[in-house]
Amino acid sequence: MTIRVYFGEAYVPAGASSDTLTKSADVAALVRDRVELVVPAPLTEEEIARVHARSYVDAVRTESPEMLAWSSGVGWMPGLFPAVAASSGGVVAAAVEALASGRNTGSLSSGLHHARRETGAGYCTFNGLALAADAAERAGATSILVLDLDAHCGGGTHELLAGDDAVRVLDIATSDFDRYATEPGWTLDVVDRAADYLPTLRRRLDGLAPERFALVLYNAGMDPHEDCVTGGLSGMTTDVLAEREETVFRWAHERGVPVAFVLAGGYRNAQLTRDRLASLHAMTVDAAARWSA
Ligand SMILES: [Zn+2]
Repeated sequence: MTIRVYFGEAYVPAGASSDTLTKSADVAALVRDRVELVVPAPLTEEEIARVHARSYVDAVRTESPEMLAWSSGVGWMPGLFPAVAASSGGVVAAAVEALASGRNTGSLSSGLHHARRETGAGYCTFNGLALAADAAERAGATSILVLDLDAHCGGGTHELLAGDDAVRVLDIATSDFDRYATEPGWTLDVVDRAADYLPTLRRRLDGLAPERFALVLYNAGMDPHEDCVTGGLSGMTTDVLAEREETVFRWAHERGVPVAFVLAGGYRNAQLTRDRLASLHAMTVDAAARWSA
């Protein structure tokens, strides 16, 4: 089944070097013959300001004040604001489309879950997950599962969505970076043995039954991979992550819940080459297509 996946060349700003800003193009090149790539409308400043402070949105747009403009750690370049407005627009479009169509979709966006209301953090500029949850709720969703399987904890998402009764969060990390205190509706596991990873995921997913969600927002980081220096865990092989993708999308399919995925973390180094990283992320796209309604 061909699925629609949001990506536009605007996601990659000229002069960018961080994987967070550049890898979407590599993943798009890998999957473009088997999915329908769709260019999303960028979010406007007003739309981004539904979740982020106007002062921060302006800083990302204008590079002033400089400290705030550079706060995410991905660098600043004139194309940064258009890029993150486009990739945030992709997450929102994917969420709204999945909700309306009942089919899996996604956006090749990264750098979302550490972003706070008033600042960027951990390579994350705008929190597309919070923006997408907000949009899905306005489109009528009353119960949304945010599944965050990036290697790191989603402290920005927690700051932005804690207390939102429509949102349930499962966060399974392999690093305690950006850890937060949970509350009802949230679970956070920091796994330190690869053998515990998939059992923890299955236990948490099974613990949700028989809840019925309108939508899953899936932050599908590949940085738990053992070859990823930033967050990776020994024993987390490509096979384990392939099984993770299968588990997530099969679970959602069996419950009739559409998934809107994003790429999230995953960083190159000597072992984890650009091609390997893109092929890890392509596993998410392929599992979404395999298990789409
Ligand atoms: Zn991460």
